[in-house]
Amino acid sequence: MRNHKLLFFITIFFFALGFVNIHFSLLGIVCMTLPIILLLKDRKKTWCQGYCPRASLYTNCGKTKKWNSRKTPQFFIKGNMKWIMLAYFGVSLFFIIMSTLGVARDIRPAMETLRFLILIPLPFKMPQLFDIIDLAPWLTHLSYRFYSMMMTTTFLGLILAMVYKPRTWCTICPIATVSDVILKK
Ligand code: SF4
Repeated sequence: MRNHKLLFFITIFFFALGFVNIHFSLLGIVCMTLPIILLLKDRKKTWCQGYCPRASLYTNCGKTKKWNSRKTPQFFIKGNMKWIMLAYFGVSLFFIIMSTLGVARDIRPAMETLRFLILIPLPFKMPQLFDIIDLAPWLTHLSYRFYSMMMTTTFLGLILAMVYKPRTWCTICPIATVSDVILKK
């Protein structure tokens, strides 16, 4: 089964929704949990093989290249890169959870800007088409954190797609690594 070629619209729609209201970024939780639910149900990587909107985005962007792809580094295929990415993913989740708890307990202010690679703030405030009033600040913080993580990994995947083969990100994607570990068990 191959990813439907138009699924990439879902990825674009997801990032566009963040400009409507950042809290829509919490929909990204579906992207993280659905692959594992399908994996446990089907005992294979159903999401990766047929439904991943991000993979569709990488495939489509890769196709637009006017230059030849470089050979995927062995470090990605057989080396430790996927474990490094999994560690990054784990650290990101840890930061997200701990800082959200900090905001919920009034120890720190809510983050209201995007960050690249967890720590690097982007030098602009995201326009919001409409505000949702009276939401708990920790929910806003969680939304910005979540959007930042999705933005960072999608950006890295796009760079890889433009330099190497379109779905090079899939060789080091934390979802794929976790899926492989579960399948082995
Ligand atoms: S490996 Fe990651 S990016 Fe690739 S298809 Fe699976 S979930 Fe999507």
